[in-house]
Parts: sequence; C-alpha cells; structure tokens
Amino acid sequence: MYTHCPKCGLEYEVQPSFFQGAMYVSYAFSVAIFITVFVVTTVLLNKPPIHIYMINITVATLVFIPFSFRYSRSIFLHIFGGVKYEPNVKLN
Ligand SMILES: [Zn+2]
Repeated sequence: MYTHCPKCGLEYEVQPSFFQGAMYVSYAFSVAIFITVFVVTTVLLNKPPIHIYMINITVATLVFIPFSFRYSRSIFLHIFGGVKYEPNVKLN
C-alpha cells in the first residue's frame, strides 16, 4: 500500500499505528465472507460434511485477503481519519 496518495499527496497513515483499528473492519469483512460462503455452500451443495464448509471458507477468505486488506484500511481511514473524497482537488 502507498504511504501517500499518488494523485494528491495525502499521507494515509494519520498517526503511528493508525491502521491497527482497520483490523476491526477487516474482521467484519471476514464474518461477511464466512456467512456468505456458508449460505452458498449449504444451498448449492445441500448441507455437505463439515470439512467441505471449512475448505470453502478457508479458500474464500484467502482469495478475498487483498480486497479485505485494502478496503478495510480505506473504510477505516474515511471513518476515523478525517479524510473526505474530493474529486476536484488540484494535482501537485
Ligand atoms: Zn488523493
């Protein structure tokens, strides 16, 4: 992840260890993935054995790590970092 925005130069890490709080957002993403994969597995495979659930959830979680990592940081930054999206900001 960049330390500064490549377009406007905004420093992403507002204070040291700022993004440790993003793990709570990441946790919410993980729970959403668990529930979604559980429901999809139950519906599509008609209640398979427990190890099928574990494999599917593990694979889905690993696949979505890049998404979860970046979006949890972005969401945390927007909620607690005082950052707003400004599409018409002047470039450096
Ligand atoms: Zn920017």
